[in-house]
Parts: sequence; structure tokens; C-alpha cells
Amino acid sequence: MHELGILINIAETITSIAQEQGIQEIQTLVLEIGELSPVVPHYIEECYPAAVHDTILENTELKIELVPGIGKCRSCGETFNVVKHHAQCPVCSHSAFDVLSGKDFIIKEIIAR
Ligand SMILES: [Zn+2]
Repeated sequence: MHELGILINIAETITSIAQEQGIQEIQTLVLEIGELSPVVPHYIEECYPAAVHDTILENTELKIELVPGIGKCRSCGETFNVVKHHAQCPVCSHSAFDVLSGKDFIIKEIIAR
């Protein structure tokens, strides 16, 4: 489980952003997690309270927005949900595809109080 380390990094990043911008208190932190990113939303939620303890995020609400993993079949061009279709094109059964979305894990928004 690497989510704790990721969250500690995020807390550090946000602490320096807040210092730069003179933000005293953060109300909500919005993270965007792609279905195909190596980050597991459930673990993020679980680790969050421990990771932000004694940081600027201590009393901040965590919001996670999930981005569906969408792939485009290299054989027939069909776009499909990679997770739902087990990484196989539902039209031609090819398993070679390009990922169009859902690969990333980003800090989407920091809402100051
Ligand atoms: Zn296909």
C-alpha cells in the first residue's frame, strides 16, 4: 500500500502551495483519480486522516472524483470502458488499445476557507 506515502507527499505539496499563496485554512481538497491509475481511492480515503494529521489538511474535507478508464481499440477504433470490459474491446475482442483517459492521479482543486 503506497497510498500513505503519496498522501504525505500531497500534504507537503499543499503546505508549500498554501504558504506561497497565503492560504491559512483549506476547506476542501479535491483529488482526481483515474480508474487506471495505480492509486486505489479506497486506500486514499483510509490513509487520509493519518497522512494529514498535524498538517494544514488536518481538518480539510477530502473529495475524490473518479475518472473512468477509457480505451480506444487499435484494431477497430471502438472506445470502451477498460475496467468494465476487462481490457478487451467489446466489438472485436482485441486487447491492444490506447488509453484515452483515466490514467492520472492529480490534485484537482484546493478550496480555501
Ligand atoms: Zn475493437
